[in-house]
Formats: sequence, structure tokens, C-alpha cells
Amino acid sequence: MKDGMGKVAVGAAVIGAAAVVAVAALVVRQRMKSSGRWVRAMDIVKEFEEKCGTPEVKLKQVAGAMTVEMHAGLASEGESKLKMLISYVDNLPNGDEAGVFYALDLGGTNFRVLRVHLKGKDEGIAHQEFTEASIPPALMCGSSEALFDYIVEKLASFVAEEEQMFQQPPGRQRELGFTFSFPVMQNSINSGNLIRWTKGFSIDDTVGQDVVAELTKALNRKGVDMRVAALVNDTIGTLAGGRHTNKDVAVAVILGTGTNAAYVERAQAIPKWHGPLPKSGEMVINMEWGNFRSSHLPLSEYDIALDAESLNPSEQIFEKLISGMYLGEILRRVLLRMAEEAAFFGDEVPPRLKIPFVLRTPEMSAMHQDKSSDLKVVGNKLRDLLEISNTSLKTRKVVVELCNIIATRGARLAAAGILGVLKKMGRDTPRQGGEKTVVAMDGGLYEHYTEYRKCLENTLNELLGEETASSIVVEHSNDGSGIGAALLAASHSLYLEELSS
Ligand code: ADP
Ligand code: MG
Repeated sequence: MKDGMGKVAVGAAVIGAAAVVAVAALVVRQRMKSSGRWVRAMDIVKEFEEKCGTPEVKLKQVAGAMTVEMHAGLASEGESKLKMLISYVDNLPNGDEAGVFYALDLGGTNFRVLRVHLKGKDEGIAHQEFTEASIPPALMCGSSEALFDYIVEKLASFVAEEEQMFQQPPGRQRELGFTFSFPVMQNSINSGNLIRWTKGFSIDDTVGQDVVAELTKALNRKGVDMRVAALVNDTIGTLAGGRHTNKDVAVAVILGTGTNAAYVERAQAIPKWHGPLPKSGEMVINMEWGNFRSSHLPLSEYDIALDAESLNPSEQIFEKLISGMYLGEILRRVLLRMAEEAAFFGDEVPPRLKIPFVLRTPEMSAMHQDKSSDLKVVGNKLRDLLEISNTSLKTRKVVVELCNIIATRGARLAAAGILGVLKKMGRDTPRQGGEKTVVAMDGGLYEHYTEYRKCLENTLNELLGEETASSIVVEHSNDGSGIGAALLAASHSLYLEELSS
């Protein structure tokens, strides 16, 4: 018995030892597997980061290419990726504008209706009010009629609430500035044909049509008595709105859903302009810089795939690298690759990660700017948006790192774009006599994504050098695009003579 017991005991001990060895081996194998996955995941991050690199020399090449394309686009139609559209704005607001004017601002995500009371001579804007609505996604791909009817309905109810004091004098029609932020070939200050849709819009029956005629038809259908006095986009509006408050504003840049820039050009430096030389000698140019591309742009495989699968393949490449519509989507694509190839979120690929555009830029910026020590915001966003729960701190840190790579590239390229414009204007070198150049900036991305904005401003200073940087002012022009359109409606009013007589 005693012997037998001993044998059993020895046997159990042997089995026990074997089990310990087996479990240990399993743990080691698991660890090796997970460390192998981690290594693979970090390889993906590293490779992506290298592809997104924006050293100063590269940014200067991008800026140089932007300047070259600007020259080409001004030389003749169709010479460049940059359309360099003539805005027919040859006189920016000077503060004399007076009257009550409306503005309609159709951007990409939201649209706004504004009523602005201008007092003229040094009194400026006496009163302004607005209402905002989002554009139902179904209308972004429907018919022209449906989209314009929807907008005009909102305008109509806003007009209906007009207080007596803002009503027009008898016999005078209300006038509107229309901020329509898509590429338009202008024929005059208040007519122009849509070149193509961008930013996720696709309404075939509008392409090639006169945008003002489409809007006017809708105004008639809905019985709104209003004249469209100016057709602009958000960059022109922001430039005009900015100039109204600061005479040194000469460039406007939008970083919102999409991106674009406008600046004041010498009319004589526009070979394709065959009209009479404006008295001011100047013309505002709508660059449509979202469509800029260059071999110097740092593109990753994710950007190439995003572009190929977009509604507008091989168009708007600059926009797809730097603007709000796309930054979150780039992040999603990298995370998906890491989930698929390195089991970054566990054995299964989180199904929601496969949905295009599920990760939006506001969410990305919230994660990027998470200041909590345990990155709680990142954890919550991953859980709520992607249904990925129980992420480790290490995992969350990698997500923040990716946000940083994507935002940094975007912001630095935007700064390079601005440098390109300043070069074209001859403002990229130190100025005499304290002369300033103000760049008016607007758009939800610039306004709300602090890390992006800081990086853009630092990069621009880095590129310009200390001495020149002191003469360039980057300024947030809040809601300038709508007010600017109202100001331009005022300076192109039918009743101008009446006013001055
Ligand atoms: P639009 O471009 O439609 O005229 P906005 O200028 O308001 O409108 O920009 C809206 C865009 O700004 C959104 O689509 C989004 O990409 C970006 N955005 C808005 N809020 C944030 C945020 N908190 N962080 C980062 N980006 C944001
Ligand atoms: Mg806008």
C-alpha cells in the first residue's frame, strides 16, 4: 500500500510537472504569437509613418510645385490641375457697403442662412443673425431640384421671420449673396456653371448648369422674391469678410469638409483674362487648390485606395490628404489593415471597422487630443463607434500616434500650400516698413482641431523663417464666408446708384 501510494504520488507529481511545462509552453507560445502580432502591427505603423513623412525639403518642393501650377493655371484654361478661377471680384469690401442683405452658405456638411444689416461708413455690421441646418445625405446624391428646393425652403422660413426694421424700402427686391463651395466657372459676379461636384456630392443633372439659374428657379417655385446679386465660394466670401475688418487680408484658406484657397492677384498677371482691366488692377482668384497634386506629395497605399474607391477618383488629391472629410477615413483604413494583418484588436476583425467613413474627423481629433492619463476618450470612442471594447492602454497609445501622423501630414502640407501662394504673391521674403499680409482662415477643421491648427501655424513659421514670419499673420475669420457673400451682394446691388444719389 505504502509503495503503491508512493507510486501514485510520484506519478501525479510527474503528470503535474508535465502539465506545468505544457501550460508554460502554451503561455510562451501565446506571448510569442501576440508579440509577433504586435511587431507586425508596429511595422505597419512605422511603414505608414515613413510614407507620410514631410521633412522641410519636401514641403518646400510642394510649395514650389504649387507656385508653378498657379502660373500654369493662370496662363490658360485647362493648363493645370489648378483651375485658378476668375471670381469677377475686383473690388473687395471697403466698409461703405450699406443695407440689409441675405446670404446662403452651402458648404459640404451644413448650410447657413444669414441676414446682415450693413450700416456703411465706419459703422460696419450693425446686426447679423443666422440659422443653420445640415444637408440630408439623401439630397447629396439626388436631383438638383430636390437640393435647391430644400435650401430655399429654409431660406423662405428665415425670411418670413424678418423683423419690420429689416424690411426693404418699397419697390426694392431683397438681395442675396450665394456662397456655393464647389468648383464653378464664373461668367460674371452672379452667374457661373458648376464644373463638378466634390466632397461626397454627386448630382449629375447640375453639372454644367448655371448655379444661379438653378437657385433662381427654386426661388420662383417656392415663391421667394429675391435677387441673387453675387455668386461666390467660401474662400472668396472669407477673403471679402476678412478684408472688411482688416485691409491687410490678401489670402483666404478654408479647411473644413474640403479645402480651398483664394488670393488677390494683379490683373496683369492673369494671361487668360481677356476682359477689361479692372480699375483696382486686381482680381480675386479662386484657386480650387483641393485639386492640386504633385509627385512631391507623400502618398501612402491607404491614400491611393481611398482615392480609387471615392466618388471622384484621381481628383482632389490635395483635399484627400488634408481636409476634414478624409482624415478620419485614412485612420480607419490603417486600423483596418492592422486588425486584418496583425490582429491588432484581437482574433476577429471588428466588423464596424469595415464601414467606410464610420470614423469621422471630429472623433479622430477628440482621440488625438485626449489628455486623460488612461486615454479614456480613445477607449470610449473605440467602444462607441467601432464596438471595440477592453482595449489596452498600449493599444490606445498607438491609435493616438496614428492620429498624430495623419493630422501632422495634413497640417504641414496645408502650410506648404500657403507658402506656395505667398511665393506667387512675392510675399515669402522679408517686407520693408512693417507691411503685413494676413491670411484669413476658416472651416470647421481649422476651427476645432487645435493640434492641426497649431502644427499648421508652426510649420508655416518654420518654412518662412523668423524674419518673414513676422510679416505674415494667420487669422481665424469666423463665419467670414457668409458675411463676405452678403458684403459682395451689397457692393453688386442693383440699387447702388440709388444709394449714392
Ligand atoms: P463646411 O466645410 O461644410 O462648410 P465647416 O467649415 O463647418 O463646414 O466644416 C465642417 C467640417 O469640419 C466637418 O466635416 C469636419 O470634417 C470638420 N470638423 C468639425 N468639427 C471638428 C472637430 N471637432 N475636429 C476636427 N474636425 C472637425
Ligand atoms: Mg463652409
